[in-house]
Amino acid sequence: MYTPEYPATHAPDGAGEQLCYSTMYECKAKGIFRKEGKKPLVGDNVRIEVLDEDDKTANLVEILPRKNELIRPAVSNVDQAMVIFSLESPKPNGALLDRFLIMMEKQGVPVFVCFNKEDLVSLDEAEHWKKIYRSCGYDVLLCSAGDGKGLDEIETRLTGRTTVVAGPSGVGKSTITNLMQTEICMETGEISRKLKRGKHTTRHSQLIPLGGDTYLCDTPGFTSLYTAEMDKEELRNYFPEFAPFEGGCRFQGCVHVNEPDCRIKEAVEAGKISSERYENYRMFYEELKEKEKRR
Ligand code: GDP
Repeated sequence: MYTPEYPATHAPDGAGEQLCYSTMYECKAKGIFRKEGKKPLVGDNVRIEVLDEDDKTANLVEILPRKNELIRPAVSNVDQAMVIFSLESPKPNGALLDRFLIMMEKQGVPVFVCFNKEDLVSLDEAEHWKKIYRSCGYDVLLCSAGDGKGLDEIETRLTGRTTVVAGPSGVGKSTITNLMQTEICMETGEISRKLKRGKHTTRHSQLIPLGGDTYLCDTPGFTSLYTAEMDKEELRNYFPEFAPFEGGCRFQGCVHVNEPDCRIKEAVEAGKISSERYENYRMFYEELKEKEKRR
């Protein structure tokens, strides 16, 4: 039995499709999908044949063409990702944030970054983080879900789009999602005093309709990653701030680690590329190199 956790596209008579935001059907995926090896994904638009209108049961008969299909998290038809980190409790982990960004860059998904809990830090500290990621070309917002600051800006970016929400536990993902959603309620975890972080409340991926064409995709186990499928030489492509300096290095195929006359290293020294980001780049490069050796 396949139980969709998202609204289905319902076209019982095949004449025009109508999106039903308020009705949920429990669907069985017909055997045909299993034979073709095609699995329904969260985010899919599907065609169903209603079996029982009272029981709200249906057969899922067709998966409509996908705009895109992400591997991590396994969702489809995504327009963008909102990566949320908090400025305090927990403090931002730049390396983890960079891993999220690399993963989205690799999958071609536009990202915006929210630094939440602005109320807990000084303006200087908030601006420090904002500046690093703005200088890489990312859209960065500061917000504090606690007092509602910055939420309008988030809403503007979400409206009319399907957005994957990512970020570590305890940063305010559930709080922000709860504040944004109008139709479905998601439980916010009780803060654990000992750990000073929110409990993880999301156990399965789900698409949360916020009204109209606006959806949030909440995903579990999306708190860490690695890029195992990546070649170390590919990594530099996912640091957008490197792009203006690429091609100028002495060696063709320079990976910006140990080579002399490297424009990226010069840009780091000149303060044109964030040294924090560059150090993370080197760390990830070494990780990939080690992985390659073990292969
Ligand atoms: P999640 O694990 O990322 O979903 O985080 P939660 O939404 O459960 O939030 C973790 C804790 O941080 C909760 O106790 C929230 O009340 C608190 N929190 C969320 N946003 C803010 C904020 O902007 N400021 C402050 N001070 N606390 C916040």
